[in-house]
Amino acid sequence: MERIIRRWLHGSRQSVTEPNSEQFAGRLEERFQRMAIPLELHKVLCPSELAPLALGAALLMGTVVGCSQPAPPQASGTAPQSARPAQQNQKLRVTATFLPVYLFTKAVAGDAAQVDILVKPGTEVHEYQSTPDDVRALAQTDLIVKNGLGIEEFLEGTIKSAENPNLKVIDASTGINAIDEISEVVHSKEGKENHEHEAGNPHVWLDPVLAKKQVENIRDGLVAADPANKAIYQANATAYLQQLDTLNQTYEKELNAYRDRTFITFHDAFPYLAKRYDLKQVAVVEIPEDQLSPENVKRTVNSVKQFKAKALLSEPGVDNKLLSSLSQDLNLTLRPLDSLEAGQTDPQYYFTAMNANLQSLKAAFQ
Ligand SMILES: [Zn+2]
Repeated sequence: MERIIRRWLHGSRQSVTEPNSEQFAGRLEERFQRMAIPLELHKVLCPSELAPLALGAALLMGTVVGCSQPAPPQASGTAPQSARPAQQNQKLRVTATFLPVYLFTKAVAGDAAQVDILVKPGTEVHEYQSTPDDVRALAQTDLIVKNGLGIEEFLEGTIKSAENPNLKVIDASTGINAIDEISEVVHSKEGKENHEHEAGNPHVWLDPVLAKKQVENIRDGLVAADPANKAIYQANATAYLQQLDTLNQTYEKELNAYRDRTFITFHDAFPYLAKRYDLKQVAVVEIPEDQLSPENVKRTVNSVKQFKAKALLSEPGVDNKLLSSLSQDLNLTLRPLDSLEAGQTDPQYYFTAMNANLQSLKAAFQ
């Protein structure tokens, strides 16, 4: 109920799209084609995917294995218990919850694991509600990678519904100290409880240094789940971590020149970035909305005056006509600042977007 109220209070972004169930069905079919088992037959056998081993055995014996039965115990021996039939050369199946953790996971996994994304880019993660397709996806995956810090509110229930006893979870934010309210958020009177994450602000991926910690956590989780590919995961992670180091150095160097470092956002996504580089984020609203409320407009105008801001920074892709006309009225430039909750799925997109953000910040501070 609380979530419904919040959803109603916040509205949703215009770019919201329904998860593409056709794509999912396509992937499922592809997998069964590889296994030479017709999808229709599989659907008859079991609504959720059986371990290929069990299904193969069932077909051979001409029996149907009950779907609620646990996977057959592995033959006793020295091999560690694993959800993954490594002996069949099947890749580890990894599901990342949403874009930033997908980018980091894909960067580390490369082609050694099959990495899918649960909340498709362009779908609002903050207020996300899972679908039956998500439950099916988690029923069939070996490993979930989540950002943690409370942003994936839907996940706990989805995992429960998936009833996948072998499912492992990597929390990419393990070891990161979340901080809330470290930057100015201009709250409305009733606003604070509208959208408060249980574990502090979750947007740690937007600080390149904390992103490194997330990549390391993901690397260690993949190595633990799939030690056979340890060398690949480590090499891929090392290369990506070096890029994050370079990005951090670029931010430090290029922002150093500016004395005035206050920026106004319409999504409280950048407090960690601000803290890292000694900037001041003034977030007028906490998560992007379709249209600013009249009260938000008032607060924006006040913040611009109070902080003598020279630019407004808004999520790319959020078509906010009110925001563009407001920036015109205030004689300010409206610049994009990407929270990476939407965007491209190439792991290099992180650097493309973060470098573009740097240019927007520099322009805002000039
Ligand atoms: Zn966000």
